[in-house]
Amino acid sequence: MIDRNASIFVTGHRGMVGSALVRRLEGAGFERVLTAGRKQLDLRDQAAVDQWFDEHRPAYVMHAAGTVGGIHANRSRPADFLYDNLMIHATVLRAAWRTQVQKLLYLGSSCIYPRDCPQPIREEYLLTGPLEKTNDAYAIAKISGLMSCDAYRRQYDCHFIAAMPTNLYGPNDNFDLEGSHVLPALIRKFHDCREAGGGTVTVWGSGSPMREFLHVDDLADACLYLLENYDNPAIINVGTGEDLAIRELAELVREVVYPEAELTFDASMPDGTPRKLLDVSRLHSLGWKARIGLREGIESSYRWFLENAPRGV
Ligand code: GDP
Repeated sequence: MIDRNASIFVTGHRGMVGSALVRRLEGAGFERVLTAGRKQLDLRDQAAVDQWFDEHRPAYVMHAAGTVGGIHANRSRPADFLYDNLMIHATVLRAAWRTQVQKLLYLGSSCIYPRDCPQPIREEYLLTGPLEKTNDAYAIAKISGLMSCDAYRRQYDCHFIAAMPTNLYGPNDNFDLEGSHVLPALIRKFHDCREAGGGTVTVWGSGSPMREFLHVDDLADACLYLLENYDNPAIINVGTGEDLAIRELAELVREVVYPEAELTFDASMPDGTPRKLLDVSRLHSLGWKARIGLREGIESSYRWFLENAPRGV
């Protein structure tokens, strides 16, 4: 077990993943969780990152920072997604190696895998085929991040590990309709419909793509588990092992938020990858399993949204 006095730097602590990691670490009794706001530290700037690491000397790093978004945001801003995500792992991993960080956890994404690979997706399928076009720029940046973890391990014996989470949702999600992922987008759309006293919610695409959803508190729990129990160059998938069609997801969110709403599908919007279900047997064999069911997770996310929406999420 990691000493609860050890300092852990969580990058991207204002985001959905970073904030969940901070909650989990504090809940586990860590007393020195280090964070740095975007204004205080630009993670794309190597000199600034080096200076920050020299000053604070974190013993561990959980690298959750990233420029992220849903299918529309990825499609509209590929250059920003590529540049930001390439730079922020390049700087942080370099500084972590130079200052002898004891262990670093890097977070990838399930979109690193080939678009049409067999399902469920095993870790070995990485780089066995072409990527999905709607998020290939982001995926390439993430692939270079997990390759960097392996490279630092091979060349410098660094204890850098890489976890690949499936689609995530939960508190501090982005509920903005242009930039968000499907689950928060649907919560917002059904909520707006309820506020309007009725009407039709438009779901993008055909409704037939299959997706898997993991609550971010489960992800944070898995990350701490891996930091304490995993030290291996092989990347590791983090998911629930279960998926459903976007249409079914829309029906589930409707049940939770506003059962009276009508549903329609906008075929002019992209479907993206037909299916993206992670094989989680490697993680299960280590003794970790997701706990938060999808319905329960949607209910708590909607409660979070209701409590925080007035603040403009
Ligand atoms: P992806 O998993 O990288 O494709 O990212 P998303 O979470 O953005 O989209 C997942 C699927 O949900 C895609 O097939 C989208 O077309 C579909 N979808 C349906 N309605 C929405 C919506 O309102 N917003 C988003 N982002 N996706 C939606």
